[in-house]
Amino acid sequence: MPKSTIGRPDTVVVAGGAGFLGSHLCEALLMAGHRVLCVDNFLTGTKANVEAFASHRRFRLIAGDICQPFDPGEPVDRVYNLACAASPPHYQADPVHTMRTCVVGTLNLLELTERNGARFLQASTSEVYGDPEIHPQTESYTGHVNCTGPRACYDEGKRAAEAMCFDYLRAGRADIRVARIFNTYGPRMHPRDGRIVSNLIVQALTGRPLTIYGDGSQTRSFCFVSDLVEGLMRLMEVDPAPDGPVNLGNPGEFTVIDLASMVLEMTGSRSPIVFRPLPEDDPKRRRPDIGLATELLGWRPAVPLRKGLAATIHHFAREAVLEEGATVP
Ligand code: NAD
Repeated sequence: MPKSTIGRPDTVVVAGGAGFLGSHLCEALLMAGHRVLCVDNFLTGTKANVEAFASHRRFRLIAGDICQPFDPGEPVDRVYNLACAASPPHYQADPVHTMRTCVVGTLNLLELTERNGARFLQASTSEVYGDPEIHPQTESYTGHVNCTGPRACYDEGKRAAEAMCFDYLRAGRADIRVARIFNTYGPRMHPRDGRIVSNLIVQALTGRPLTIYGDGSQTRSFCFVSDLVEGLMRLMEVDPAPDGPVNLGNPGEFTVIDLASMVLEMTGSRSPIVFRPLPEDDPKRRRPDIGLATELLGWRPAVPLRKGLAATIHHFAREAVLEEGATVP
């Protein structure tokens, strides 16, 4: 993991810290010298994700749901809110809980931030742009979201969370930052979370057909997790705070077919590709404009797709969990 640019011994809460991104963030914060309080309800995260540093003297794992008021019982300086299932099958399994996590959970963490005079970073998402009509998406684009569809619990929940963050900022109640995260991948992704990179890799490694939804011409951008974590930490520490959300993602654009071909080649798999109907509200194109992040944070992704895929394939190949891969969506 990259070292943070800032090495202060602050106490940092990472909500959702046992998840994919959260566990990498906890690790990077520990390496940068911070005390880390990880709170998670283990809905999609696991203790295995934090196992490598669970016994670190500056790490504390707290089992809890942010939908309940949360106070770790010690002063905190920074609060990262990454708590929320991020893949469609997981966030749609209990859509009301997803919405509650985004709205009530974010409010609880903003209250914690205000009580402590701390700084808050919300992990928002490119899903706030919905199925975008402009490419690439800049932060000023207000989005094209279906507020009654099956993805609305997540997309609209995240939009509501952003609204609350900026209300807290305007009222002078908390120092907040909002990252709009685009598709990120890497080791510790849930092998059965239904997201494209993990799906294709697990299918290739287990010799099952690679599933492509639609004709595969839809595009996605893929950011490697270490790049994303570096961007989050820079956004948290930049001063003064940006007065709006900041896109974080990799602007490289690949079709889903390109990605599948790369995975087949890199795993040496002979799996066939099968095509399935496109799910409702699935965006056709997604690519971040990261001009603002580059200007404000001096940040741009450094890990090329091939290199990031190699690390991710290596991770999944080692995982015993592949034995259960029969249920890969
Ligand atoms: P993830 O599902 O691996 O992690 C989410 C974590 O939050 C899990 O550990 C889960 O158990 C925990 N959680 C969920 N609801 C909770 C609750 N009510 N209380 C406490 N903990 C709860 O997903 P991820 O990919 O690591 O995503 C982390 C954050 O980043 C999410 O908020 C997601 O919306 C955002 N994000 C991720 C991506 C991506 O490509 N990975 C893209 C855009 C936004």
